This record gives sequence, structure tokens and C-alpha cells, in this order.
Amino acid sequence: MSALFLRRCRRLAVLLAVLAFLPSAPAQAAPPELPDQIAAAWRTDPLYVDPAMRAGFPQAELDRIKAAAASADFNVYVALIPRTPYLREERSLDLPTLLQARVGEPGLYLVWTVRDKYWSGVETMVRPAGLRGRSLVSVQLDDKQDNKIVNDRPAPKIVRTIQQASTAYDGRALPAIPATDLRQDTPRRTEPSTTDKEDRSVFVGMGIGGLIGFVLVLTLVLRRGRRRPATRRGGTATPVTGVRTQADRWIPKAGRAIRALEKQKSHTSLQLDLRDDARARLDAAKTLRAGGNDDVLALAGAYVLARQAFQVASSDDLLPPCFFDPTHPSGTVRAAWSDDTEVPACRTCAKTVEQGKTPRGLLVSRKSGLFGSDLVPYWTLDPEDNPMTATGFGALSDDLAERVTRVYGGVR
Ligand SMILES: [Zn+2]
Repeated sequence: MSALFLRRCRRLAVLLAVLAFLPSAPAQAAPPELPDQIAAAWRTDPLYVDPAMRAGFPQAELDRIKAAAASADFNVYVALIPRTPYLREERSLDLPTLLQARVGEPGLYLVWTVRDKYWSGVETMVRPAGLRGRSLVSVQLDDKQDNKIVNDRPAPKIVRTIQQASTAYDGRALPAIPATDLRQDTPRRTEPSTTDKEDRSVFVGMGIGGLIGFVLVLTLVLRRGRRRPATRRGGTATPVTGVRTQADRWIPKAGRAIRALEKQKSHTSLQLDLRDDARARLDAAKTLRAGGNDDVLALAGAYVLARQAFQVASSDDLLPPCFFDPTHPSGTVRAAWSDDTEVPACRTCAKTVEQGKTPRGLLVSRKSGLFGSDLVPYWTLDPEDNPMTATGFGALSDDLAERVTRVYGGVR
């Protein structure tokens, strides 16, 4: 280990001391009965409705979900459950995987929860023949109307997810979405250019998941064999264009979520706080985006902050980014990087850490006089250089937005 590396580690250790004060989710024990209960019920009926919700649950919704599941060429397991405090924790993201492990069959596993009459969900797709077809995430990113699907009832989004999974699985065309499943008031979105689409597929190909609409998408595909494109622009560096596309996708999306929150007739003080928090994050995201067209650190910072603004405004579910690579799915797992260092990480990176290795991380070029420029994980850069390295993109301390505003000023 070089002296430089050790120095960096020490610096990082200082930063990590902040971790103790992070408002992270308490390590709450899972109610063990929930996954067992659902998995057991699925043995007789792959559509599970929580007992507390069964009375009066609209049969038409269930019928639609059943019909969509029957049209798929793989098993579809669906659980409809209320959003309990336990499920509000980051742990709910693991539920489809936990359930799949219990059932042991390939298929599409959907866990959909309701809170304040809005439905959101998580899914995992495990393919019978291993990696085959496209990733579910890439199909969802290409499905331009996915964002406009109503979420005041469960069937529209669940049916769409099953259709998207079928397309990912065997390439069949996505059917049109019935007009009654679409929100009417959504502003028009500009069509992405072909280049954007290519960038997006490169991005997706690198194994980066994303939040799609209100759906958190995690596929085992990403964890198993991460598809990598044969050629990657700029050597092995994280492609700037992909990060830029994500920032440009999430900034307007967060803006819409904030406007939707503002439109509600009356506001509780919690909602006002959420709005202010989301706005501060979005403003900082815009500042970073305006200032960094080709700067991967600024663009990734903009992406993370916009995604968080969306999380805060739409569901009060703030998640830290994956410390190792902020462009990964959110840091839903605490990874023990060393004896005294714990960082939020995505599940892929957490797995790598579990195996005693350090994830590849977000690579940036370090311009070193003697050795030219080489690619290094961003966390080895001087934390004093910018707020992103100082806070691990907000993974180590949740004050990235404030720091950005302090360093770069307000929205330009
Ligand atoms: Zn990660």
C-alpha cells in the first residue's frame, strides 16, 4: 500500500466519523413472518393480498393482474401489501429477492405496497435460462409512457411491469397502454435523440439500475452477469454521456414531483418541509448540471441530488447513493468496508465488499504530472477538491446540497 493511499484512507476515516450521525435507517429486525407468510401463500395462489386489505379489494384490479400474469411465459408472483413502518425502511427493496430465495423458482417477483392510496413497487426478475434477452431496466427506460401510468390503483403499473418483463424476456412488442391507465396532466416530454438512446443503452448495459416512475427496479440480472458493452468510450472510465443522460432525466422528473406536491390543496408542516428539502436538492442539482457538462463528478452529483429530490417529493423515502458509485442504484445496504468503516452501498457493491474486495467504483481521471492521467476511484481524490468527493456524493454526510450551494452559489 502506498503512503498516498494510506493518507487518503486516513482522510476518509475522518470523513467516515460523520457516519455515526447519519439519519440512516435503524437496523431494524425484519418481521420474519412476512416473507414466510407470502411465500407460503404463493404456493396456492401466486397473487397474494394482505389479509388486512382483502375485504373490499376491487376484484377488477385482481382480475387484470391475473390476466396479465397468465399471458407471460414465466411465473409471475405478486404480493399486495400495506406500507408498514418496516417496509418503509430500505429493507423493502430486498423483499422480492428474499421471496425468490424462499420460493426457489425463476420468474418475476413483484411486491407492491400502498401508502396514502398511492401504490409503488419493487420487482426482481429471475430468468429460467439465466441471462437471456434484454434487461428489464433497459425495456423500462425505453418505455416512454411508463412515467405517466397512474398509481392510485395497483393494476396499471403491475400489468405494465409484466408486459415489460415479457418484452425483456422474449422480445415481443410492448402493447399500447390503455388511455385510462395514463395520467392526463403530464407535460410533454421531448423525444430522446438516437445518441441519447445509445448512451442510455450503454449506461444500462453497464449494470446501472434506476428508478423508473414510482417503481424501484432491481433485477438479479444486474447482480449476476453484468453485461458490459464490448467497447466503452474513454477506456474504462464511467461514460460521461450516460451520467449526463441520467441527470437530464431526473432533473425534470424531480421538478414535476415537486410541482405535484405543491399542487395539493392543503399542506401539513411535514409536506412543507419535504417540499423545501426537495427544492434545495433540485436547485443544487441544477447548479451542478449547469456547471459541469463534461465533468463526471458534477454530473453524477446532479443525478444523485435530482433523484433524491424526486424521492423526497414523491414518497418521503430518502436514500443515500451507493458510496462506491453514485450512478448505481441507491445505497440500500450498509457495507462494512473495513473493521471500522461502514458505507451505504448498492447490493452489487455490498456483495463485492462482503467478499473482501473493493468495488471498482466510479472511475475518474487524475491528472498527475509525472504519470500523465490515470483512472482512479473518485474517493482517492482530495476530498477538499469538491463537495462530491468530500461527502461521497452525500453517502457519508447528507449535506451535499448545502455544500454545493456554498461552493458554487445558487442556480445559474
Ligand atoms: Zn454500487
